[in-house]
Amino acid sequence: MRSRPRWCTLADVTEHLVRWTRELARLVVPVSCPGCGRPDETVCAPCAEPLSRAPRRVEADAPRLDRLDGVPPLPVWALVAYTGHVRHLVVAWKDRGRTDLDRLLAGSLRRAAAHVGPAVGSCVGSPVGAPAGTGAAPEVLVVPAPSSAAARRARGREPVQVLARAVARGLGDAGIRARPARVLGRRGRVRDQVGLGSRARGRNQAASVVVRRRALARCAPEGRPVCLLVDDVLTTGATLAAAERALEGAGCDVVGGLVVAATPPPDARSARGPTSPAQRCTGPGEGG
Ligand SMILES: [Zn+2]
Repeated sequence: MRSRPRWCTLADVTEHLVRWTRELARLVVPVSCPGCGRPDETVCAPCAEPLSRAPRRVEADAPRLDRLDGVPPLPVWALVAYTGHVRHLVVAWKDRGRTDLDRLLAGSLRRAAAHVGPAVGSCVGSPVGAPAGTGAAPEVLVVPAPSSAAARRARGREPVQVLARAVARGLGDAGIRARPARVLGRRGRVRDQVGLGSRARGRNQAASVVVRRRALARCAPEGRPVCLLVDDVLTTGATLAAAERALEGAGCDVVGGLVVAATPPPDARSARGPTSPAQRCTGPGEGG
């Protein structure tokens, strides 16, 4: 079979142009805190503070993570609620070219990953606290949620990859072998999620997330791959649920998800109470 020549496509050119234009704009437009608008600050201390908190479990508030098959939902940790200044900050970073926030968000998620490291380590049988790279536990694949080609072009990059790299480093800090693994993609045209109900979002997502089998084989050449999903925002959970299903279908164990921010439920004082800490490990750490 002939391999395709690696030409620079129109999409590649557009992506680069968007990135350069934004970088240029950042040099000439005065900077301000994307959270509250305070001038002359990349991000002010009060807006950055919530990102330094410990992550908490949020899967009970994401209805689409309910698998309806008796298996507990995927454990998902979030740093903060996706509201107020945090919301402005994340939107500026993701959609308005504020790449100067990479460092803040990556640093926050790296610390969060170190925090959830023991839970992930118990799933892969990694001796927590041991230096990274020791022991026979499998390497954890840190999988960024896939972006659509349209989103990639509009943003000039895939911001979630910045997060995945940071999470892999954070797991390393906790003594767990991990690497970022861009093994998910999107197939076909995904409808814009805006205006879709939770169920329609689920169908929209599930139909479009695919595993890049060759990339997966390169990242995990032997054994059953163990994956931790990473995304910027958790809303209904449709994206992570679709990613989980796609990876499981490709023979992977998905041990959890880590996101920057999660949309709080309509009634934040949910009557469901705290999330059960139950794990769903099928890796060597717990078996079955
Ligand atoms: Zn601020």
